[in-house]
Amino acid sequence: MVKVILFDVDGTLIRTHGVGVEAFARAFHSLFNFPDTTKKISFAGRTDISLVKEYFRLNHYTPSQKDIQDFFPCYILWLERLIRQSDGEICPGVKEFIYAAYKLPSNPLIGLLTGNIRLGAEIKLKHFGLWDKFKVGAYADDSENRDQIARIAFARASQMLNNELQGNEVVVVGDTPYDIKCARAIGARMLAVTTGGYAREELAIHKPDWIVDTLLEISPEQLND
Ligand SMILES: [Mg+2]
Repeated sequence: MVKVILFDVDGTLIRTHGVGVEAFARAFHSLFNFPDTTKKISFAGRTDISLVKEYFRLNHYTPSQKDIQDFFPCYILWLERLIRQSDGEICPGVKEFIYAAYKLPSNPLIGLLTGNIRLGAEIKLKHFGLWDKFKVGAYADDSENRDQIARIAFARASQMLNNELQGNEVVVVGDTPYDIKCARAIGARMLAVTTGGYAREELAIHKPDWIVDTLLEISPEQLND
């Protein structure tokens, strides 16, 4: 029986068509006058903290703790500004899947497991009217390491369920091999979606429990099979 469903954000719930990446570049340019280095970085599935460190590295700059702390408020300002002008969308089937999950007899806890910092996830999901659907979560603020973020999300969900949660009662929904790996780190089952850019074959190598092109192809009831 599924008790918890944890969703990745970018490429799984929503597509912002590069707004997050552009906000990264603009913030680094505003604060450090770095050129746009985003093309040299693979963003999908990564945590914000690890991306920030890589961005500094690519610009041959050794950041202080303060530099890293200064980055995020500036990134958030750019993200808020840019997302208002964006032509992004909710991925197909997401709303239907979440509404159906809320109606399951097992009443699963719906949460987030994302490499976004919490405020970044909140801004993105509020823009699309989805933020209030998620009752638990773990974020890049919690750890630089996505597997560790998964462990923290699991611990928080477990606490909300009187500490009786087993790994196989959790389903992680995500669009990259990183999502599949972090689901394994907590013994969860994994529903992979191809809405983020990774192809079916690329995700299949990592053996998720289900692969769908969109969440229209599967109902939350099927997670109990
Ligand atoms: Mg993603």
